[in-house]
Amino acid sequence: NLSKRLQTVAKYIVKDSIFADIGSDHAYLPCYAILNGLAKGAVAGEITNGPYQSAMNQVKKNQLEEKIVVRKGDGLEVINPGEAQCITIAGMGGSLIAKILEEGKDKLNSAKRLILQPNIHAVHIRKWLLANGWRLIEEEILEEDQKLYEVLVAEKGNPNEPYEGINLEAGLLMGPILLKKKNEVFKKKWHNEAEHWEKIIEKLSLNSDNPENKTKRKELENLLALVKGG
Ligand code: SAM
Repeated sequence: NLSKRLQTVAKYIVKDSIFADIGSDHAYLPCYAILNGLAKGAVAGEITNGPYQSAMNQVKKNQLEEKIVVRKGDGLEVINPGEAQCITIAGMGGSLIAKILEEGKDKLNSAKRLILQPNIHAVHIRKWLLANGWRLIEEEILEEDQKLYEVLVAEKGNPNEPYEGINLEAGLLMGPILLKKKNEVFKKKWHNEAEHWEKIIEKLSLNSDNPENKTKRKELENLLALVKGG
């Protein structure tokens, strides 16, 4: 059974598309998508040998070699020009996902939609999308096995639109669409983060002579104000 996290990613795959799943590991997502008729074909990209082998095995086991091609390589370099209309990148940190997008910019011309699932630091992805003309069309936050995950869906378009009427910094941090929906999982995430920051601020205050601590404290107080203000 596919995890709730990857099922949420799968939900947004463009129908009848060829999609590229970057950092596919065991290729669960491409196999699920093809077996359930969510896409026409897929490219599973992996940079590491072990996960690359495990993707190959999974595709073979499901006899999906004609629909899913597994390629070894760094980020979007595994995509041939014009090949993928949809790109999924899941289960990594937000800065790594943003780096993969930045380094593979030239491979994004044919892509209509990006589905990104950062485990942490989604803010780096939102900043990249905003700077590169990708508009967030949907965001989800979900809980599975006591972990909180975000899923960001973007298409080409006016990237400022989702941030209209809200504080930009708060929107980038927490997600403009999630901020508007404000569901229970969202509240839990930012309540947890705020508690965590408050503890650090307390510790830093004990040693307030250190100028570095002062800067760090100011930073955290800014974040706290954003979260509380949102
Ligand atoms: N996408 C799967 C999921 O969400 O369950 C697997 C996530 S796994 C934690 C991250 C995978 O990304 C690893 O298998 C790793 O080898 C791969 N990876 C990391 N950096 C990569 C890059 N630059 N290009 C391709 N794959 C990468």
